[in-house]
Order: sequence, then C-alpha cells, then structure tokens
Amino acid sequence: PAEGYKYHRVLLKLSGEALMGDAGYGIDPKVIDDLAEQIKEIVEDGVQVAITVGGGNIFRGVAGSADGMDRAQADYIGMLATVMNSLALQDGLERHGVSSRVQSAIEMHQVAETYIRLRAIRHMEKGRVVIFAAGTGNPYFTTDTTAALRACEINADCMMKATKVDGIYDSDPKANPDAKKFDKISYLDVLTKELNVMDAAAISLCKDNDMPLLVFNMTEPGNIARVLKGEGSATLVY
Ligand code: UDP
Repeated sequence: PAEGYKYHRVLLKLSGEALMGDAGYGIDPKVIDDLAEQIKEIVEDGVQVAITVGGGNIFRGVAGSADGMDRAQADYIGMLATVMNSLALQDGLERHGVSSRVQSAIEMHQVAETYIRLRAIRHMEKGRVVIFAAGTGNPYFTTDTTAALRACEINADCMMKATKVDGIYDSDPKANPDAKKFDKISYLDVLTKELNVMDAAAISLCKDNDMPLLVFNMTEPGNIARVLKGEGSATLVY
C-alpha cells in the first residue's frame, strides 16, 4: 500500500479536452509533460494507476452524427481518436521513466495490447500504468462510462475525474462568482440536481457499485497526489 495515501488503486479519467490545453485542438505537449510528472509522483509512492483517455479534442461521435454521419460509424472514429491520445500519453509517461501499457478495447496488435482485465491488474501490481484506449469498444457509449466500468472491473479504490476546476459547483464558477462548491455530494443528488459531472450511465454505474468519484483540478502541479492523500481541494461523489 502507498503510505500516506487514502486510495491505493485509482482509475484516472482524462478527457481529450484536458489534453489539448489552451490550444483549442490537438494534444499539448506541455499538458502531457505536466500529467506525466504528476503520475510519476504517485506511482513512485506506490499507488497503482490506470487511466482512461477520452477523444473529444480530436473527434466526437455525436458531432459526426449531427453532420449527417451514421452514429455508430462516427463513434468508431471517436474511439480511434482515444487511441491516438493514449499513445501520446504513453509516450509522455515513458519519457518521464514511468513504465506503461496501452490496452485497447478494439484490437490493434501493433500499437496496443488488447484489453484483458487480469493482465491489466497484473501490470498495475508490477508498478506499470495501464492506459485504457478505444473506450468500451462499443458505439453509443462515452469514455466517462468506460472509466466507471473499468474502475469497477479492476477494483479501484476510487475513480478520479480530471477537470480545470477544483470540484463540483452548484453553478458555473467561471460565470457566477457566488457559485458554491460541494465538498461532498451523493450520486443521487448529482442526478436529481442535474449537475453536469458525467453522463447518467457513468453516474449510475458508479452509484450501483459504490465507486467513490473525486472531481479535481488537474492543472495544479502535484494535485493528483494531494487529492489522493485527502489533502487537496476536490469534490467527493459517493
Ligand atoms: N466512444 C464510443 N464508445 C465508447 C467511448 C467513446 O463510441 O465506449 C466515442 C464517442 O464517439 C465519443 C468519442 O469516442 O464521442 C470520444 O470519447 P468522449 O467523447 O467520451 O471523450 P472526452 O469527452 O472524454 O474527450
């Protein structure tokens, strides 16, 4: 177990948008470097880490379908976008000396392992970071739902959702200076208050399986470690 930490095995969800930084598109190498530093810190402290990466910085199925594409076909493109992000993140981790494996829900032998649950757990036990690519492998799902699913599958102690604010507020803190932050909130309240945290499928999967969710600010250096030690500012959804 990782000394000083409240959570020892975590599933970190990174959206595609999180990876693009301020550029508005693509992958920002500075963001990848910052994340790799933060992940290196917790891995060296003994935390077991898996990551689910989104693809919204490159392609989203709903956007393609709004433009007239077949929805399922568009979603497969979205899933392939998550593979690109996963490989970029792996590159960053490896450059920082963190051993990692990408496991894809769509077979792609030359660039990634296939997702195998027990193998993923074994990697984490050996101190390797496992990056889950290609979502669930099914159209009509999101990477938030993938993250909730994988967190449950690998028996994570918590799921962490990286954002650019330090938690969940009752209204948008960037638009409303009086917005109030929740330190803790139940999944039921997230659903009934229609707070925009994750899609309902992801929320109910976490709720039904008692998976705690930490919503936190990834842009502050060292914050992943602080939040996992119970020190940083975040919102706990339970
Ligand atoms: N996607 C999918 N099935 C999944 C996960 C993702 O079809 O299980 C597709 C979907 O089209 C989605 C895209 O991949 O729009 C990128 O994922 P997401 O929008 O969740 O990325 P994020 O918002 O986290 O960047």
